[in-house]
Amino acid sequence: MKYISEYRDRGLVHDYGAAIAALVTRPWTLMEICGGQTHTIVKYGLDQLLPADVALIHGPGCPVCVTDAALIDQALTLAAQPDVVFCTYGDMVRVPGTATDLLSVKAQGGDVRLVYSPLEALALARRHRDRQVVFFAVGFETTAPATAMAVHRAAQQQIDNFSVLVAHVLVPPAIEAILAAPDCRVQGVLAAGHVCAVTGYDRYLAIAARYQVPIVVTGFEPVDILQGVYRCLRQLEAGLAEVENQYARLVSRPGNQLAQQLMAQIFQVVPRGWRGWGTLPQSGLGLRDAYRHLDAQVRFCDRLRGGVQVASPESLCIGGLVLQGRKQPPDCPAFGTRCRPEHPLGAPMVSTEGACAAYYRYRPASSAPLPSLATQQPGAGLP
Ligand code: SF4
Repeated sequence: MKYISEYRDRGLVHDYGAAIAALVTRPWTLMEICGGQTHTIVKYGLDQLLPADVALIHGPGCPVCVTDAALIDQALTLAAQPDVVFCTYGDMVRVPGTATDLLSVKAQGGDVRLVYSPLEALALARRHRDRQVVFFAVGFETTAPATAMAVHRAAQQQIDNFSVLVAHVLVPPAIEAILAAPDCRVQGVLAAGHVCAVTGYDRYLAIAARYQVPIVVTGFEPVDILQGVYRCLRQLEAGLAEVENQYARLVSRPGNQLAQQLMAQIFQVVPRGWRGWGTLPQSGLGLRDAYRHLDAQVRFCDRLRGGVQVASPESLCIGGLVLQGRKQPPDCPAFGTRCRPEHPLGAPMVSTEGACAAYYRYRPASSAPLPSLATQQPGAGLP
């Protein structure tokens, strides 16, 4: 299986583990941005393979985790409307808003449907012209082009019963916010390969230079991650802060320019609230004025006015700190006790890319300190 098996090769994993151990002369802290990378790291025990001096902390790249609770509350309100078919990606249905979740709304009669793409939601709108079909557009630059395509087609075909609740967020402003924090511990960054496949990585050049932090665009398999770590550490040990592309099999420097053009046509950059974090300037995408008639917040503004929820089941959740790399999942007092996948208090325990879900699934007793290389079988979790 080309492009998969060679990136899960146990021998290569061992080789990179040894190369990293030979390279490192002092402690370093790296952040992997993407939740998919976090899952690979925890699943295969890659962090345990590294020398004790090298710490990996988890970043904000879980699209479900970062979606603002206020937007989820709006989604809950819309999903409960009798004339609305509310379409969402599967991970979103169990994420708590302020007081409940979409699955509960569905159980109470809301027409909530799971889709794999916004074009599926658009097809539903074509089939049910007597209903309002709303698509909950969450995610980073990876999912935004598909949303842009659906909006473009809806406008072109004048489908007037389709709208989009836009929650898209952008990765670079979040990285900048983390690196700009006065107490930032991150010394090197593994950037998310699939995001860069769309955006390219020109924007990262200025970030690496401004914060003097090496950034390595990295893929998602174990060897990808270890190559990314190795390249990052090699720069740190040499006093460099440059952008490298480990994921060259999918990422080019300019990225996917057709996707970028479509996004620029449909979206404008806006401030965006990040769950448990607050509003980051210029960190989200909203529809341009020409497409405001397809914006669910505009179409349903009278029904969304005033807010909806009162209880706060998320009060125990430190998910906002987890996605900023300030805390690890086992630091949360609710981890594995009051918060479990079947009863999540926060998004990182629900999402397939959530850091808490990764620890719960692969390392449930992870409140114990991480073993050092000397006590671990390298790559023990690899197939
Ligand atoms: S364990 Fe649960 S409550 Fe704690 S940070 Fe993770 S999602 Fe939030």
